[in-house]
Amino acid sequence: MPAAADRALVDKLVLANRILYRYGVVDGFGHASVRHDQSVDHFLLARNMAPALVRREDIVTFDLDGAALDAAGRRVYLERFIHGEIYRARPDVQAVVHSHSPNVIPFGVTGTPLQPVFHMSGFLAEGSALFEIRDVAGDTDMLISNAGLGAALAAALGSRSTVLMRGHGSTVVGASIEQTVYRALYAEVNARLQTQARQLGEVTYLNANEAAKAAAINDTQLPRVWELWAREVGAIE
Ligand code: MN
Repeated sequence: MPAAADRALVDKLVLANRILYRYGVVDGFGHASVRHDQSVDHFLLARNMAPALVRREDIVTFDLDGAALDAAGRRVYLERFIHGEIYRARPDVQAVVHSHSPNVIPFGVTGTPLQPVFHMSGFLAEGSALFEIRDVAGDTDMLISNAGLGAALAAALGSRSTVLMRGHGSTVVGASIEQTVYRALYAEVNARLQTQARQLGEVTYLNANEAAKAAAINDTQLPRVWELWAREVGAIE
């Protein structure tokens, strides 16, 4: 068990849960985690509950195998393996958001990659990856309910920011809680805009250079949006 996590980091994770609900990325389902600040081999994730209701005391410490160290009998998320296996495969990743955000779903079921429609989604420069659970495990309940499935998902994600999960949802990663929440929100917005644009005609996406430049600028603006989002969801009591 690592030393106690930074209280400010825990509070930020609580805010992330509420922000993701406020902006329609998660509903009663979906979850957000952050790598533990005292151990690269652990991460923080709420117990099994609706994200909007998460409080400081609901945050549980997990190892990368998905074992809860301080759950004290509380139920944990069935899909915690998404988080552990991505942290194992991607040392650069500090936060993970898994959701079933609705505008992204059509992309997964048609195998259409998300591509950056506008500058806010420069993080999609390489497009989204696609995970087909049927190729790995046949007919399942679609959930990432064990370490093997989590590792297969992490392999499908590769070096990208976003992986679509066919018939299920998506998972977004980033270098901080703020950046990952931003990406999860704008993946959903980009999906809606990309669908609308394709209905109008041929789409000119940001090219790789434009997307990379836009993403670099947007990362400098994260404190500005985080301040707004944090205020909207209220103080942590
Ligand atoms: Mn799920």
